[in-house]
Amino acid sequence: MEFKASFKCINPECGSSYELTDIIYRCRDCDELLEVVHDMDQLKKRSAREWKELFENRYRKNEWPYGSSVWGKKELACPNVDNENIVSTYEGGTNLFWADRLGQQLGLEDFWVKQCGMAHTGSFKDLGMTILVSMVKQMISQGKNIKAVACASTGDTSASLAAYCAVAGIPAIVFLPKNKVSLTQLIQPITHGVLTLSLDTDFDGCMKLVREVCQADDIYLANSMNSLRIEGQKTISFELVQQFNWEVPDFVIVPGGNLGNVSAIGKGFQMFYDLGLIDKLPRLVCAQAERANPLYRSFKQEFKTFEPMQAQKTLASAIQIGDPVSVKKAIRTLKAFEGIVEEATENELANAASKANRTGLLCCPHTGVALAVLEKLVSRGVIKKKDKVVVISTANGLKFTDFLFKCHTEKIPGVQSDYAFEAIELPAKYDDVRNAIREKIEV
Ligand SMILES: *Cc1c(COP(=O)(O)O)cnc(C)c1O
Ligand SMILES: [Zn+2]
Repeated sequence: MEFKASFKCINPECGSSYELTDIIYRCRDCDELLEVVHDMDQLKKRSAREWKELFENRYRKNEWPYGSSVWGKKELACPNVDNENIVSTYEGGTNLFWADRLGQQLGLEDFWVKQCGMAHTGSFKDLGMTILVSMVKQMISQGKNIKAVACASTGDTSASLAAYCAVAGIPAIVFLPKNKVSLTQLIQPITHGVLTLSLDTDFDGCMKLVREVCQADDIYLANSMNSLRIEGQKTISFELVQQFNWEVPDFVIVPGGNLGNVSAIGKGFQMFYDLGLIDKLPRLVCAQAERANPLYRSFKQEFKTFEPMQAQKTLASAIQIGDPVSVKKAIRTLKAFEGIVEEATENELANAASKANRTGLLCCPHTGVALAVLEKLVSRGVIKKKDKVVVISTANGLKFTDFLFKCHTEKIPGVQSDYAFEAIELPAKYDDVRNAIREKIEV
């Protein structure tokens, strides 16, 4: 069977469409965002049972490229790319962690953390980047004059772009806000040999610049305004459903910054629903840092207006965004999924992460935001004891050791750690060690 996808303008009054191999990020007719649309009639020619069987047969196997959980759903994600142009690091298939002990502490019986940070570059961004860089390789193979790929980033998109371009041997340029990404995130593009620009501005400032630079056609823009990435990220939902043995959770909570991911997760569930693989939809919750909360403010007014803001410095640096590119898609998605937007303060996010870490997780600050929001919704009675709840952990805590260190040593102004706990320094002598143990543990 021949499957095919294309770009379509999200403005219902316009509806212009474009080829996936066009170098285009916004509609040429009305300047609105684009989205990838699939030929659903063609996809529906296979039954839900046949799709499930196919996906199960491919999942985490070694037949390249289908063992990747993104390319294992190639027909639904990006059928337009030839397999020889796929640039993959075996994405997805990340652990769905049954957070039983944390769930019990929160009063939940069926609580899970989707560990999207267990990825090649340590964040969920790889899911979308594999599709984008594969399409770039496809375009280059068809003679398109692309000299480099560029992105603005809060640290994870740049790491991912750098790795995938290094795998493919395609030059890349990353625009980072100076002193606003972790050391690991800064070193990732550098070690992959990618041109790394550390700029004296914030993410929104980097975004403006990269858009200008990419106006010339020979540098391709990799930000999530480029809707190819959404197609990979939506496989988070495919994978969740598959890991729950084709069951749908009641709530999915995801931290939101530029708001591509919440849109992507909605799109994945909707597509499975439309193809008959599932028969209900979850409620989606977008969790924002109080210091960068433009969507929360809009939600408070039932999305009647949306005002970009100047994002304040937050520990959740990957979501420190005041002017999110995908806001229209996110609002459309949240309206369709009985969506909720909630916020978390610095203190709340730091303590929620530390509390979870006591139960064996290792959370990045953004996952802390989602966990803090979960606590609020449970205490308000919105989320109930028996609900099946998933928190999307967006990055690996190991990329944010500075955050973890500061949380425990109480070195963050304004944050009071309920979990402060430092290593005890002692002479290497039996009596000292023995006494130190006795002070803490009854032995
Ligand atoms: C990119 C990112 C987010 C936010 O995703 P958006 O699609 O921009 O809303 C959250 N957490 C981490 C760790 C990220 O890298
Ligand atoms: Zn248009």
